Amino acid sequence: MEKSQLELLVALQDLDMMIEEISEVKRLGFSAEREEELRKAREELANKIKKPLLYSYEKLKKRYKRAIVPVGEDNTCLGCFIKLPTSLSSIGRTDAEVIYCEGCGRILYWLS
Ligand SMILES: [Zn+2]
Repeated sequence: MEKSQLELLVALQDLDMMIEEISEVKRLGFSAEREEELRKAREELANKIKKPLLYSYEKLKKRYKRAIVPVGEDNTCLGCFIKLPTSLSSIGRTDAEVIYCEGCGRILYWLS
């Protein structure tokens, strides 16, 4: 099955975190062999994401460390802990569109 834009974004964020860790390792003076591989994978993944979405992801990433945050069981944003309207959760679960938190503006994803 085709992955949704949100799933791609979550994967992109994971890759970005790994790349960041590698940069940290390199700063400490160790060699990092997988960096090239990860950067290539990141590029391929980014190409599959719609440009406006990728742009807002990059913007959020600069502001917060995590641009995408999960929604907790009690329907709160786990980034800023605001309570989200229940109507959002049914929209968010359809994967048809990407939902932004009203409190912090980050991209939300529902774990199940
Ligand atoms: Zn939030």
